[in-house]
Amino acid sequence: MSEQRLDGKVAIVTGGASGIGAATVKLFAEKGAYVVIADIQDELGKEVATSIGTDKVTYRHCDVRDEKQVEETVAFTVQKYGGLDIMFSNAGVAGSNRNILDLDLEDFDNTLAVNLRGYAVCIKHAARVMVARKTRGSIICTASIEGSVAVTGGFDDKGYISSKSGVLGLVRATCGDLGEYGIRVNSISPYLVATPLATKALNLDVSQVEELGVAAAILKGIVLKPINIAQAALFLASEQSAYVSGHDLVVDGGYLAVNQTFKFIQKPN
Ligand code: NAD
Repeated sequence: MSEQRLDGKVAIVTGGASGIGAATVKLFAEKGAYVVIADIQDELGKEVATSIGTDKVTYRHCDVRDEKQVEETVAFTVQKYGGLDIMFSNAGVAGSNRNILDLDLEDFDNTLAVNLRGYAVCIKHAARVMVARKTRGSIICTASIEGSVAVTGGFDDKGYISSKSGVLGLVRATCGDLGEYGIRVNSISPYLVATPLATKALNLDVSQVEELGVAAAILKGIVLKPINIAQAALFLASEQSAYVSGHDLVVDGGYLAVNQTFKFIQKPN
């Protein structure tokens, strides 16, 4: 397979100031893209842009809960770099891990506002400019394995799990709308990655999150890192995935494919 390049392509990465988003910004820039980091962590976002050391990467404050800010970020990107080819809708939050009996609806609403409504807004405004400019663009959303299976005992925020299932539906529905314009819409579902979102949700440090991930993993001998998710995003952004749309690219080392229940049965000698 020829090298995956994004020369001259223009991308927006929401949540690009940290974790998976920051790794993707760096990889996209390395592969020749112009990138706008859209996030609410201004200092961190500017640091990521500066660390890449090129004027091909810019930080822009954008709260995805606010449609106007998303619309303006898209317009800013088109004006600055001359178009929009890739929208990586990736910004995310995890709310509190509560049993449904104690559900905090304010927290639930906020998680959905970022992780689902925010994604719909990003798809809407990216697609509008792609359609108007006749760009055969690629829209990529970060879902999660939790969109397909609910975990228990930590990282089991009901808003988070609902939002990630919602992203899978949103991707299918919008891929249907946008196919006639040549625009592809896909998602990526990562397994556990030790980013600030995960360490906070689990109340563990980075090495503890990685240990937990390795212990529960099906695929052994590798620790899942943000760069592994960025590489999946690069594939979906590039021409190498030219006929892939409506797809959920699961990056979980087989986790969703295997039910581990019987692993815990004591076998008779
Ligand atoms: P992270 O905390 O490192 O990054 C999330 C980014 O989103 C942060 O920079 C944050 O400032 C930004 N953000 C939050 N609210 C925002 C808003 N309203 N507007 C704009 N930006 C906002 O965490 P991450 O793990 O890199 O998360 C990236 C995506 O990956 C999320 O959608 C998350 O749900 C998903 N994901 C993460 C894991 C994991 O284990 N880390 C697993 C599956 C899916």
